[in-house]
Amino acid sequence: MMKAVLLGSVSSKPTTENFTSCMLVQNEAKVYLFDACEGVQMRIMQSGISFMKIDSIFLSHFHADHILGIPGLIATMELSERQSPLNIFGPKGIKQRVSEILNLMNIGHSFKINYKDLSEGKVFENEKVEIYAKKFIHRILNYGFIMKEKDKVGEFNRKKAEKLLPPGPLYKQLQDGKTVTYNGKKIKPEMVMDYNKGRIGKKIGYIVDTYDKGYEKFIGNADILFHESCFMKEEEKRAKQTKHSVMEDVIKISKKAKVKKLVLFNYSNRYLEDLEKTKKKIKSKDIVFGNDLDCFELK
Ligand SMILES: [Zn+2]
Repeated sequence: MMKAVLLGSVSSKPTTENFTSCMLVQNEAKVYLFDACEGVQMRIMQSGISFMKIDSIFLSHFHADHILGIPGLIATMELSERQSPLNIFGPKGIKQRVSEILNLMNIGHSFKINYKDLSEGKVFENEKVEIYAKKFIHRILNYGFIMKEKDKVGEFNRKKAEKLLPPGPLYKQLQDGKTVTYNGKKIKPEMVMDYNKGRIGKKIGYIVDTYDKGYEKFIGNADILFHESCFMKEEEKRAKQTKHSVMEDVIKISKKAKVKKLVLFNYSNRYLEDLEKTKKKIKSKDIVFGNDLDCFELK
């Protein structure tokens, strides 16, 4: 099961209720953070998920409202005696940027930080998930992300297997769908695999701060897409100037891309007061106006 939590939902500056935009995904024992708003560590604690489980952080771009939480988070990880390495992905120059901020604030860390400059395409892969990045038009270099959970053909039933053969490399072959021979006896994968427990991996998108259009392929068939919705159509001119999205365009693009659930967020403070009125105009239950700490389970 995957879980995505919107940690902050407004653009540029926080309010008394809302933090600026960022989101995390928990996939089994690992957590992946997309952007790090000011005070992100507090929001993560409130979500009930351990910030120590963060495996990798993906920063879309170097505007302050998306990265201010980094030094505080790393300082707290160090105080909490983190041992495991942390990956930080960001636009070109990420290592220098973050190192300078940490030096300036005298934040040391005894755990290793692996910095990686982003490029387009697959940027991360482990045994459970793959993450893809794509450049999105903004005032500065900016990336959007797709996280794809790997398909699971079924679940290996250890109890059943142990009755047939002892643990060893043959287990892996059975999990890979190969028939093996033990003590002259043929053992087929279906004898140890619960294929009814298989599942198609889920696809989650995270896109902020862009006036881009025509990226349906990148977000195609996403199970859930977190997409900024900074402005309304009436403020199209300002959206163009500041390179932000217009809600109506985002809805159109995600419909075309057959996104199953669209979570709008990153609202401009300028129209927060009108948000309730706007919500009433949108009838689809597959379009959600995200709020801080909204949690979405992907079963
Ligand atoms: Zn920005």
